[in-house]
Amino acid sequence: MFRKVVVSGEVLEVFLELCREVFPRENIMLIRGKIRGGMAEIKEFLIPPFSTYGEGFSSFPTYMIPFDLSIIGIAHSHPSGNNSPSDEDMNHFYGRLMLIAAYPYGKDSVAAYNSKGIKIEFTVE
Ligand SMILES: [Zn+2]
Repeated sequence: MFRKVVVSGEVLEVFLELCREVFPRENIMLIRGKIRGGMAEIKEFLIPPFSTYGEGFSSFPTYMIPFDLSIIGIAHSHPSGNNSPSDEDMNHFYGRLMLIAAYPYGKDSVAAYNSKGIKIEFTVE
């Protein structure tokens, strides 16, 4: 189990910028990174090729994510301004890490959760 998530400010901004762009719809992106030594390191946010914005996270077709071990989870946005995972978010958990950004999508509006829904320390470097 990892206890900490780290990401560079530059990489995180790619995700946050798209969150702002598609607001008030939800942004959903794949998280590419590495988990080792109790730490998850996010390297990149990827736009899913089959993504349709505004459908909402719960209707996101996770079965269509290509088999790729470098995809460690999914990031999505909450236009509501609350970055807690909903029941639906937990029912559709993919991978080992979930990031949720709450409106207005600043660096401090992001929270990270593991597959049990437990909040993980999130550090922007
Ligand atoms: Zn959600």
